[in-house]
Amino acid sequence: MPANPFPPSAIAPLLLAWYGQVGRDLPWRHTRDPYCIWLSEIMLQQTTVTAVIPYYQRFLSRFPDVATLAAAPIETVIDAWAGLGYYSRARNLHAAAQRVMNEYGGTFPSSLDELTDLPGVGRSTAGAIRAIAFGQRGVILDGNVRRVLVRLFALDGDPRNPTAEKQLWMWAEELTPAERADDYAQAIMDLGATCCTPTKPTCLLCPLALHCQAFAQGRQAELPAKRTHKAVPTVLQVALLLERDGSWRVERRPLSGMLGGLWEFPTCVVAADADPASIAAALAATYGVSDLRAAGHVAHAYSHFKVDLRLYRGRVEEWGRVAEGEAEWVDAEILRSLALHGAHKKALKFIAA
Ligand code: SF4
Repeated sequence: MPANPFPPSAIAPLLLAWYGQVGRDLPWRHTRDPYCIWLSEIMLQQTTVTAVIPYYQRFLSRFPDVATLAAAPIETVIDAWAGLGYYSRARNLHAAAQRVMNEYGGTFPSSLDELTDLPGVGRSTAGAIRAIAFGQRGVILDGNVRRVLVRLFALDGDPRNPTAEKQLWMWAEELTPAERADDYAQAIMDLGATCCTPTKPTCLLCPLALHCQAFAQGRQAELPAKRTHKAVPTVLQVALLLERDGSWRVERRPLSGMLGGLWEFPTCVVAADADPASIAAALAATYGVSDLRAAGHVAHAYSHFKVDLRLYRGRVEEWGRVAEGEAEWVDAEILRSLALHGAHKKALKFIAA
């Protein structure tokens, strides 16, 4: 590990001065309401600020407080999350809202232990909530901050390995000031999002350039080191794009289990050596489909597997042969706004054809 090349106390004043000049004006920066801060932090996990803003505003108008969110059916929360992706966040959000209502009487806890005990709230998210909502000295290490610290200290190797993780948290702790931890958290997140970007960081505009080891060594483009990805299995699936009078058949997946509560076209998993066309024909027969034809295929990677999704399109003539339950016939406009999971979202392009 490189030695700390500057006193930790040198960093916060530089970042805070920079933030005062160019910090972004974001909707969740106009409130200290822990509910709003928590919501924004969960939405910002794995999603950019630009994408989050309209969702944040719509979500708040639909679920304006933790009590409303906790009382809502999970299906409506998942549907409100449609398009943001990483839907486990929506399920955790709902579960955490219920915990806040049941265990804390609707008042958000502020201690690190209590916050990290809520579903979906990790150490960094808890640090952000503590700093921004409660004005306490919360320490954060999200993706943006991780990249800044890796470059600032020129940390080699996979920054997600346990040793690097421990070191990064130590540096994050050391650099976080006792005063204005809220502004500091926003500042270092902004630096990672706007200046110390994944590619082409604008080091000449960076307030930390004089201290940055990666910049001094000309290695800012090669750090953080790329992560090595494990090989994951590919699953072959067949899905039917069924149309009846301008409406399309979709089914909601069971709430428990993988991709729980998300929508998809009628689908089945098939053996790798099976013939997708005959499987599609057999599946189509159960829906009373006529005019079945291949529509295309989609490749999509989930976290632990990839999907090779073969699509077949057909018309359903007899409504009565299709069981309802957690299924709907929806027009193309509603279809595009549904919380379809990744591969099936990509399949939408075959609907327009
Ligand atoms: S000098 Fe460049 S690499 Fe270093 S922290 Fe600033 S933007 Fe990132």
